Amino acid sequence: MDETTDAKLRSWVDVSTDSHFPIQNLPYGVAIRNSDQKPILVTAIGDSVLNLTEIEKRGVFSTTEIAGKNVFQGSSLNDFMSLGRGAWKTVRQALSRLFQADNPAIRDNEDLKNKVLIPASEVEMVMPVSIGDYTDFYSSREHATNVGTLIRGPEKALMPNWRHLPVAYHGRASSIIISGTPLHRPKGQTFPKDAHAPVFGPSNVLDFELEMGFFVGPASKLGKSISVNDAIDHIFGMVLVNDWSARDIQTWEYQPLGPFLAKNFGTTISPWIVTMDALAPFKCPAPEQDPKPLSYLRSESDRTYDIHLEVNLTPESSDTSETIVRSNFNYLYWDVHQQLAHHTVTGCNVRTGDLMASGTISGPAKKNRGSLLELTWRGEEPITLSSGETRKFLQDGDTVTLTGWCQGDGYRIGFGKCAGKILPAIKE
Ligand code: MN
Repeated sequence: MDETTDAKLRSWVDVSTDSHFPIQNLPYGVAIRNSDQKPILVTAIGDSVLNLTEIEKRGVFSTTEIAGKNVFQGSSLNDFMSLGRGAWKTVRQALSRLFQADNPAIRDNEDLKNKVLIPASEVEMVMPVSIGDYTDFYSSREHATNVGTLIRGPEKALMPNWRHLPVAYHGRASSIIISGTPLHRPKGQTFPKDAHAPVFGPSNVLDFELEMGFFVGPASKLGKSISVNDAIDHIFGMVLVNDWSARDIQTWEYQPLGPFLAKNFGTTISPWIVTMDALAPFKCPAPEQDPKPLSYLRSESDRTYDIHLEVNLTPESSDTSETIVRSNFNYLYWDVHQQLAHHTVTGCNVRTGDLMASGTISGPAKKNRGSLLELTWRGEEPITLSSGETRKFLQDGDTVTLTGWCQGDGYRIGFGKCAGKILPAIKE
């Protein structure tokens, strides 16, 4: 049993029961203080962040295996992520002890506390990782079935390969943005229904995709694959991902090589990386796989995590956000270990900071559908918001906010928010 996940642990920092950041979470992020532009590496507790850059300088980790490594002095988490599970556990234990109710080290040192514990409202969260490569999977059976049904009809909804391998495409890392960054409606080439030739202009069918993603910790070598059982040692933690999608661009461009411009104009991630150690108590079985995958993709029974997920929509005209999707990470057919094993089975190397997203996370019920494409059945069944407004797809001014958490007994291991607002297309 990992004592850092003990549900009974309490901190000297006040944490409400619905906070995403109790002492059992301890996620990692990068922040900028309003008064000071140099980024600091941080963890979160309750409504505060702890300055890891400062406490490392003060020697808090000097008796641990990361002593002298200065992994929290850069502008991203990559150095720390590259060290691997042993170092991650050591630091997590040290942080857990610092925050425990009976530990006076920071609690009773006013000067130190004022210096290193900062109200979350006083910092801006920025991109936590230098991301080299980004891959997006397509691992929800319900999502693939819904999309396949819309495109090809119910008989041929799932392609023959789908239940044998985790389908994916190589995405674009340069346009991954942090929660809170607005993005412009993309322009591109589409072929409208009754047109005789393609046209150029702003996308008229803009959508979100409810996803999660994991970051690669230690790199692998070219030519070496990562086995399904070793995969967990290469996974640092997870974030929420909104894979914004222009469906009209996608429909026209995608054959035969898959998504390209329909997905490359922006992908939003949440700022806090929740570690696999924090998620461990919420491990649960994934859907049964039939047929059994080939042996390189076979892993043990508790392969995934029970993470409740929501999508909230806030129109420009409204102050209230409305929950339009409720889903769960554990609906995914292919798990993170299988995704990483499959990705590297050819000998493709992965590097520290690579992001692997899950694909849209839909489930069996209509409310579980993780995109507007599915929720409105390609616009045939618009959704009605409480204001009376309807949506087939996203309108300018709409803000989409993903959130998610694991529900423990009296506490939550949460991911915070992953939000983005759609601005009008940029004029020529
Ligand atoms: Mn996607």
